[in-house]
Amino acid sequence: MADEDITLPKGDLMKGKRGVVMGVANHNSIAWAIASQLAAQGAELAFTYIDAMEKRVKPLGESIGVKTFVPCEVTDDASMEAAFRVIGEAFGGKIDFLVHAIAFSDKNELKGSFVENTTRANFLRSMDISAFSFVDAARRCAPMMSPGGSMITLTYLGSERVIPNYNVMGVAKAALEASTRYIARDLGPKGIRVNAISAGAIRTLSLAGISGGRSMIGQGRQWSPLREDTAPEGVAGCALWLLSDLGRSTTGEVIHVDAGFHIMGLPDEMESDA
Ligand code: NAD
Repeated sequence: MADEDITLPKGDLMKGKRGVVMGVANHNSIAWAIASQLAAQGAELAFTYIDAMEKRVKPLGESIGVKTFVPCEVTDDASMEAAFRVIGEAFGGKIDFLVHAIAFSDKNELKGSFVENTTRANFLRSMDISAFSFVDAARRCAPMMSPGGSMITLTYLGSERVIPNYNVMGVAKAALEASTRYIARDLGPKGIRVNAISAGAIRTLSLAGISGGRSMIGQGRQWSPLREDTAPEGVAGCALWLLSDLGRSTTGEVIHVDAGFHIMGLPDEMESDA
């Protein structure tokens, strides 16, 4: 499907729902694609961002009607505490959904040998920012959520299989996916659903930090049954399903939105031996 064929459907699927979007850095961010889709369906959003991104994030958010912008550094308890307090106040103590689209690792360790290049400090930092921050955000959101509440995070296939250079991020994503299941178990009795979307490679700031990131996109296109790049709109569509009432009865899942890349064991153009 060509890019120009993609339109953002408008509707009421999220009307009356309020939610937190963590992880918009710029217009390429997956969180931005998700936020745009949610806003087009009537959601009221609060954005958290890191200070360095403020100038880019605010105009973007304002263009889709976001009024609540809160700085939030996920490794800092005081910052997380303040962010969720401000959002709680802005939303009258009621949150319907959470979008967690945050990850970080030192790019010097996203190349070459995992076993040789991974330091203790960056292993812990990658886990803290990329996995624990979802647990922490979920814990802070849950008391403000009613039955029907929904949370999502973003993950990648490098958690399940070895993707060269993805290294410690793959380990952090495995922890994130396991955390998704444990959070789903804990919050399920309260009627809150918790899921992860495993997106194919998409050109963003985060991808640029991975050695060979461009080739991850190229290989994905070549191997995938759909023979196309993962569309941010497709990831956003899955997020809309999971965060709206259409997603009822689905929890604890890791759903792949990657043009089918994850089902392939070998590329299709292999020649037959006959
Ligand atoms: P992005 O760089 O646009 O988003 C990453 C976000 O994490 C940024 O907004 C950044 O400010 C935030 N962040 C980093 N460290 C932080 C900290 N200490 N405190 C608060 N925020 C912090 O890139 P993206 O690709 O949109 O990434 C969003 C999510 O999607 C990540 O979890 C990423 O691993 C995941 N993902 C990306 C791809 C891809 O190919 N781009 C594929 C699958 C999954």
